[in-house]
Amino acid sequence: MLKGKFALVTGSTSGIGLGIAHALAAAGCGIVIEGLATPAELQKLGDEFKQKYGVPVVTSDADLGKEAGIVELVEQSLSAFGRIDILVNNAGIQFVAPIDAFPTEKWEQIMAINLTSAFLLTKSLVPSMKANGFGRIVNIASAHGLVASANKSAYVASKHGLLGLTKVTALDYANTGITANAICPGWVRTPLVEKQLVDKAKADGISVDAEAQKFLADKQPLLEFSTPEDLGALTVFLCSDAARTMTGSIISMDGGWTAQ
Ligand code: NAD
Repeated sequence: MLKGKFALVTGSTSGIGLGIAHALAAAGCGIVIEGLATPAELQKLGDEFKQKYGVPVVTSDADLGKEAGIVELVEQSLSAFGRIDILVNNAGIQFVAPIDAFPTEKWEQIMAINLTSAFLLTKSLVPSMKANGFGRIVNIASAHGLVASANKSAYVASKHGLLGLTKVTALDYANTGITANAICPGWVRTPLVEKQLVDKAKADGISVDAEAQKFLADKQPLLEFSTPEDLGALTVFLCSDAARTMTGSIISMDGGWTAQ
């Protein structure tokens, strides 16, 4: 369905980003896989994608917390493929503490990775999308882009900001062939959530699986984790021709979390 397109998925060495990269490659896209991983891990992932999907693959360990990392990633992507048609801003990190105990450097790091990197990558890649008359920008926000939870000031602020950026991107590039949409997942059991589960299970003195059920019961009426594959399928739809008039949309896949 997306044969001949080139996609860059940030944070695609793990979790949701990896699921999205698999789904886009399965749909025929050449892929830039990016994330904080060792050269051996990146090589393994790259080989797996080439073998499984027969698409061209570039791997990158650019640090998106720094502007130099963004410049490096853009150069790697454009020099390999000549253009990027699909940009998925997925890389994200979390840190949990009340505001008066929240380290300022953690706030800045979360803003840089979760929000500023999406702005800088959009800014850098939109010119080639405009030139081609086609572009799909998918920002992976969160239920925390729409509602808050205690102790997650930077994360919640960054995800609310990412939804604002998505809407402005849609307006700035309406009628250019470029669309920008955001997906707001609820709980997905990835390494990012697993760390929170393990920490909280320890504090509560219960098993990690019991804690996982508590996490769901606390937020999601539908007591089931979404999967990276589910998010991948939704992203492929947003990149398809059928979604060409969807722009500036905020799409939840959150088990009813934000319906309450
Ligand atoms: P994850 O920890 O499994 O993956 C995060 C990815 O981001 C990894 O590939 C990692 O290498 C990359 N990354 C982290 N710091 C980076 C940096 N400085 N430079 C470059 N890459 C960096 O997490 P995940 O759960 O798959 O989360 C992916 C996105 O989905 C995040 O934006 C997260 O906020 C969002 N999200 C996750 C959930 C969930 O329940 N897991 C829910 C809502 C939203």
